[in-house]
Amino acid sequence: MTLRTIRQRVPALEVTEGAGVTVHRSIGTPVLKNLDPFLMLDHFGSDNPDEYIAGFPEHPHRGFITFTYMLDGHMEHRDSMGNRGDLQAGGAQWMKAASGVIHSEMPKQTAGLMRGFQLWINLPASQKMSDPAYQEFSAAAIPETAGEGMRVRVLAGDFGGVRGVIDDPATDVLYLDVALEPGRGFESPLADDRNAFVYVFEGHATLAGEALPRHTLAVLGKGENFAIEAGGEGARFILVAGRPLGEPVVQYGPFVMNRREEIEQAFADYRDGKLVRTRAAMTGH
Ligand code: MN
Repeated sequence: MTLRTIRQRVPALEVTEGAGVTVHRSIGTPVLKNLDPFLMLDHFGSDNPDEYIAGFPEHPHRGFITFTYMLDGHMEHRDSMGNRGDLQAGGAQWMKAASGVIHSEMPKQTAGLMRGFQLWINLPASQKMSDPAYQEFSAAAIPETAGEGMRVRVLAGDFGGVRGVIDDPATDVLYLDVALEPGRGFESPLADDRNAFVYVFEGHATLAGEALPRHTLAVLGKGENFAIEAGGEGARFILVAGRPLGEPVVQYGPFVMNRREEIEQAFADYRDGKLVRTRAAMTGH
């Protein structure tokens, strides 16, 4: 069994998004344009109670899935499917934009804190123009498993016999939030045909003998097993894996398609008020 090593380190870039929100972006930067099937990873956060967070007012998406995981604070959202809600800390939102969604995402602080992740997951060509769908899960609905000095939240996929809440057959995404006490290790099988990454957001960790600091994404090399060890302050990280689609990716801002003409069509549809073709009902817990 081959242990996965670090193939590439990607220190997150500070970028300004939405109406002036600073995010740490790792996937979707010049260093790592994408990691099939993942198109973007943003780590957003604020620990300054005086900071005004402008958020992400109304904007479109087409051709992929946005997956948002709130760690602290909450996020008010509304979309063209008619969903409106307030995603609380520990909760997750899975939105398949597919043929087109227009939405707003407004993260807010709770007790001066706001932290979370947004991951963009690509859709295969056959689903890019399918109907949008939406699922939202509260913290209580996300299964957790604990071992000695370890706690794992299973957001998507399977871990140790625990099935996550999000099912994504197109790319079979695994999404774990792992917290380790100082010096503790974590191990998991990880199918060799999956592209995978780790992003440490608390403490630091060691992976295959290499130190992995905070706010650095590690793209994993090939192998069937994954192992990591927490440093002296412990570590908390997300481990994400997915089956690559192997299709051409043409991206322009919030539209991700296979061909340039499809991007031009998306712009034309948005301009003509035809981006949103259908409304889908909200599901989830
Ligand atoms: Mn959005």
